[in-house]
Amino acid sequence: MKVLVVNCGSSSLKYQLFDMKNEDVLAKGLVERIGLEGAQLVHQPGKEDKVKLPADISDHKVAIKMVIDTLVDNKIGVISSMEEIEAVGHRVVHGGEEFSESVLINDKVMDAISKCIDLAPLHNPPNIMGIEACSEVLPAVEQVAVFDTAFHQTMPEKSFIYGLPYEAYEEHAIRRYGFHGTSHKFVTQQAAELLGKEIKDLKLITCHLGNGASVAAIDGGKVMDTSMGLTPLEGLVMGTRCGDIDPAIVPFLMKKMGLDANDLNNYMNKKSGVMGISGVSSDFRDLEEASEKGNKRAALALDIFAHRVQKYIGSYAAVLNGVDAIIFTAGLGENSPETREQILNNFNYLGLKIDKDKNKVRGKATDFSAEGSKVKALVIPTNEELMIARDTKNLVK
Ligand code: ADP
Repeated sequence: MKVLVVNCGSSSLKYQLFDMKNEDVLAKGLVERIGLEGAQLVHQPGKEDKVKLPADISDHKVAIKMVIDTLVDNKIGVISSMEEIEAVGHRVVHGGEEFSESVLINDKVMDAISKCIDLAPLHNPPNIMGIEACSEVLPAVEQVAVFDTAFHQTMPEKSFIYGLPYEAYEEHAIRRYGFHGTSHKFVTQQAAELLGKEIKDLKLITCHLGNGASVAAIDGGKVMDTSMGLTPLEGLVMGTRCGDIDPAIVPFLMKKMGLDANDLNNYMNKKSGVMGISGVSSDFRDLEEASEKGNKRAALALDIFAHRVQKYIGSYAAVLNGVDAIIFTAGLGENSPETREQILNNFNYLGLKIDKDKNKVRGKATDFSAEGSKVKALVIPTNEELMIARDTKNLVK
């Protein structure tokens, strides 16, 4: 079965075509600047070189049509006709409380996704546009929605209700939802495989550390708590997001700086995090380099980042009443031995010891705990697209 995975942003569309027989990626690519000047499709067939195709791409429907035409093109395409695409899986950011797992898309599902627009005004509308575009271009093909929030729906009320009047939840759906669920779920499954154990017997803390970053406490495959909240702003200090702050800072800054709600949202989402602290970059590679050259604020940003991850791991070990393995994934989690070591330095009391040589690994599934360590430390590369393709295949079968 061939499954097309689609991830739509407001002006972009990422895609991967999987052959689910061996879970091979036949082709992948990105349409960028949709509706803007300079739009183009960057297509990569298999492991061959990328091909750039500039074009007038006025909306997501034109974009998806161009993707399909490219996939069946007799020079750079990888399939002979669009009938070979048997299902499409879509990444959808917010499923609210409606969706605790992936679903086949129908009118009722579309209504429910639209109802969640309030909760993710920047993300759900382009996700909906992508689904609508695919149903027009591929009307006979079944489509599946895979939600960033779904895996976290197992959280107990005590983890997801804020300390606000209960009406905030009842009337405005204000609660913690959590994000990166597809990634946390994928690495949970891979970790169980690597450890040779069943998911139901494992207490895991999964750390998705990329530009956006979140931690989850997972007991027997059920999320008990996670660091992101109503929006992806809560929790860790991230590339450009502030994470947890005293909520009183919001009105304070609005008054002091004369900011309105939008300005402040921008300030906390785009100008803060390790970027705002260091004044150097949101990219951890730049920060590591600057810190080595003696830049104090870059070093401070790295310390603050690691400290916040430590706080979450420590509190989640308490929530879970113990932990079998701590998992690192996403750009930074997979590729930065320095960050992993800095974070895990503080967990000797849990009986966790790392093997510094094994920790040198980048981007490869590895158990880097030392022999005899009571808690395993793992690197597990995430693959959200593959998780979406797997869910899609399972639902369409
Ligand atoms: P997202 O998908 O949220 O944009 P990624 O998971 O791709 O993020 O992670 C991107 C981040 O990973 C980069 O900003 C960079 O800081 C970090 N990163 C990637 N490779 C390395 C590396 N070799 N060393 C340190 N950090 C890295």
